[in-house]
Amino acid sequence: MKKIKTNYLFIITIVFFALGFVNILFGILGFLCMLIPIVLLIKDRKKTWCQRYCPRANLFTTLFQGRSLTGKAAPKWLTKGKVKWFVLAYFGMNLLILTMSTIMVFRGRVEPMEYLRLTIAFRLPWDVPQLISAGPAANWALHLAYRFYSMMLTTTITGLILGWVYLPRTWCTICPINTISDVSLKNMKRAA
Ligand code: SF4
Repeated sequence: MKKIKTNYLFIITIVFFALGFVNILFGILGFLCMLIPIVLLIKDRKKTWCQRYCPRANLFTTLFQGRSLTGKAAPKWLTKGKVKWFVLAYFGMNLLILTMSTIMVFRGRVEPMEYLRLTIAFRLPWDVPQLISAGPAANWALHLAYRFYSMMLTTTITGLILGWVYLPRTWCTICPINTISDVSLKNMKRAA
């Protein structure tokens, strides 16, 4: 990939969340945050996205480098224990629910969930203002967008809290993309 300025990639994260207030359908772009790291991993056989291009990690570094509350690494039980597997399982389940529920909305079996949730448990008590109406957008697309936006919001807020308390990129130690990348790289090396 062509070398690009990476210092300001955090702006992409801010723009993504801002676009959700313009029209929630932009939330579907959150899928790219899962797709691009995997494509680059397969192409480069290393964690190119995590090491250079992730806008979220760039946001954590920009906000908290040298400014975090404790300035210390997170406890080992969090970064080196089973937490990353729990987070991976949780987001796997989240993706499955997202996919199944979108299919159900598409087939007219359930109503779309046109609201945000933090994790899959807590519904946010306010509606996202929409500057541009979604018009005749399909229900399933709205449902999918709200669910992707909710996932991105949950992981970003978790990452911001961890980065604020510990080192800026603490979230990366338990991020599902990192865990999947590590496992895939191990398997690629074994197969080579
Ligand atoms: S581990 Fe997750 S948050 Fe960290 S750089 Fe990789 S994709 Fe971004």
